[in-house]
Amino acid sequence: MYEYQGVIHVHTRYSDGNRVATAVIQAAMDADLDFLVITDHNSLGAREAGLEGWHGHTLVIVGEEITPPGNANHFLALATGSHIPETMAPEDYAPAVQGHGGIGFIAHPDDVAKPFLHLDAYPWTAWNTSGYDGFEIWNYTTDWASRDYNLWQFIRALCFPLEWIQGPPAETLHRWDRMNKEATTLLAGIVGADAHGYGYTYKRMFRHVRNHVWLEKPLSGRDPVEDTQAILKAIARGRLFGALDGWKPAAGLSFTATAGDTTFLPGDILAGSGTVQFTCRLPHPAAITLLRDGDVVARQEGTTLTYITDSPGVYRVEVYGRYHGRVIPWIFTNPIRLDNGSMDGNM
Ligand SMILES: [Zn+2]
Ligand SMILES: [Zn+2]
Repeated sequence: MYEYQGVIHVHTRYSDGNRVATAVIQAAMDADLDFLVITDHNSLGAREAGLEGWHGHTLVIVGEEITPPGNANHFLALATGSHIPETMAPEDYAPAVQGHGGIGFIAHPDDVAKPFLHLDAYPWTAWNTSGYDGFEIWNYTTDWASRDYNLWQFIRALCFPLEWIQGPPAETLHRWDRMNKEATTLLAGIVGADAHGYGYTYKRMFRHVRNHVWLEKPLSGRDPVEDTQAILKAIARGRLFGALDGWKPAAGLSFTATAGDTTFLPGDILAGSGTVQFTCRLPHPAAITLLRDGDVVARQEGTTLTYITDSPGVYRVEVYGRYHGRVIPWIFTNPIRLDNGSMDGNM
């Protein structure tokens, strides 16, 4: 597999970001990102300016964050070909994006207020919908900005953001596990930076929080349309993990399920009886936990965890590190689901 690292959910001056899109792209190049997904509020300005495609070794992909008036229901629309009107009912965003051949993610579903910055909560409330590819399991800016800082703590959080990061909200992870138990195809979990470039600079955030996507063949580096499709398809099918690379670079992690001679990856569903071996390998020692339907079934300090089972369920890995004496979130993989029943039940 070929691993590519990128940042999803980034604002520029086409909406409320602090820098023009070309400067944001330069920051992505400086941070050595393989891909950057720009999602301005209700704007495809960066696409209209011809900024999609390869910039050095960084592939720029432009979508938008559909943002209705009011304090709820932001939706990330990628690869749609055209602007999706924010005036339609939020329940209709995902079907509209799908109808335009795009992929869609619910943004910050359990968003909370950011008291120090006097910003409201913007959660997702229109759950009576379908056709989306997944949601942000972790919105990094909300995580960082939502603490009830005093001025001194806020200054410290600007200097040492990793001292304050908490990881994905528990209710988001619970919902994700619960939904993936029942879903026909797995809902993908992405990490959204929601970078705006105020205080916490773009370049810094691009180094701190990333999505790591696995592809079966390398990007061409020449055909931006084909390369964009490859990245977005892999994201939509859950072939990725999110990581706080600002703690330790997470590149090289693997999480697999092996059944007989076949190896499965995050985003896959295995149907059939028999035993399966789950294996997680890390590039750096840390505390690895394997979860089934949200419950921890195995835990290992180090670089490798293996677990043999025949119990059906949604399996995913969370990894935690230590920073200045506190436990911090490092890695959240997408799940591999093990289904019950005979192989031919799914033919
Ligand atoms: Zn938003
Ligand atoms: Zn946003």
